Amino acid sequence: MSVIQLLPDLLISQIAAGEVVERPASALKELLENSLDAGATEIRVQLEQGGIKLMRVADNGAGIASAQLQIALARHATSKIASLEDLERVASLGFRGEALASIAAVGRVRLASRAVGADHAHQVLADGGRPGEPQPTALAAGTTIEVRDLYFNTPARRKFLKSEATEYGHSEEAFRRIALARPDVAFSLQHNGRAQHHLRSEDARRRIGALLGDEFAACALEIDESAAGLRLTGMSALPAYSRASRDAQYFFVNGRFVRDKLIAHALRQAYRDVLHHDRHPAYCLFFDLDPALVDVNVHPAKIEVRFRDGRAVHQFLYHALNKALAGRGGENPAAQAQ
Ligand code: ADP
Ligand code: MG
Repeated sequence: MSVIQLLPDLLISQIAAGEVVERPASALKELLENSLDAGATEIRVQLEQGGIKLMRVADNGAGIASAQLQIALARHATSKIASLEDLERVASLGFRGEALASIAAVGRVRLASRAVGADHAHQVLADGGRPGEPQPTALAAGTTIEVRDLYFNTPARRKFLKSEATEYGHSEEAFRRIALARPDVAFSLQHNGRAQHHLRSEDARRRIGALLGDEFAACALEIDESAAGLRLTGMSALPAYSRASRDAQYFFVNGRFVRDKLIAHALRQAYRDVLHHDRHPAYCLFFDLDPALVDVNVHPAKIEVRFRDGRAVHQFLYHALNKALAGRGGENPAAQAQ
């Protein structure tokens, strides 16, 4: 008979890292979400070799008290929820308390922070394991986290990484999704020392143009529809800008990028009469509703969601978009008949 035993903490985190930190882009997403949850208004990202060699995220958010730097890297440690009721109405992007622990289990981490009101900044270092004691460091404000040599201690995982260019592409896409969701926040992205994006705080329309191209912005309808506590805003392209792939479909639920069959179906239906079946609509849409009506805790990376009333959501999205498409000159007879 084999012996059943509890796994060591580090190994548990390394296993969890397979889900949360599938590749550099997933780590970047988690770090950016942490900065937003901390109320940052400016976030700077530097990557080297697609994020594998180095990922540095610097924000001007609320910071972490020096006495909390070590626990921030511990598993299941979060400041964002404390009870099941909190979880049911969670408004922050994070809440599982496993991202930093997972990242620290598979990379060399430096976490430096200066909490609001603190006189000095402190940092902790963790080399694929427990963090050391906090040390004084220099930092004007907010939090800077550096992750080096991702998967240095998990060679099997490292083998799954693609080329630097491919990993950078995924990382840039993670950056783009976050930056689209928060046009009010300034972002910059550097790769191998070269500036890739420099986004000032702006309105949604300008941000969409900056990230998805002026051509998209010029061919898109502005959407702003609401009914019964549901709201859909953003931009949706006219049929002329349709695509051969789904590469320009951005949908955010309460500020979180999601991929969802029900949503995709509703939007597809709204375009049905104006789009050839092998073309895909392009859109960047923001759907907001009471957080209690949507469960975001169905996927470790939270890319999937579950709605309490899926039918109502489907109908609302379909009608909102259909109306917008019809309203641009009666080219959608099906919508007008409703
Ligand atoms: P979660 O985001 O689910 O709470 P994480 O492992 O991502 O879990 O982060 C753990 C905790 O560390 C957070 O709850 C937060 O208190 C703190 N933290 C992480 N990143 C930042 C940051 N950039 N600014 C301020 N606090 C942070
Ligand atoms: Mg987090």
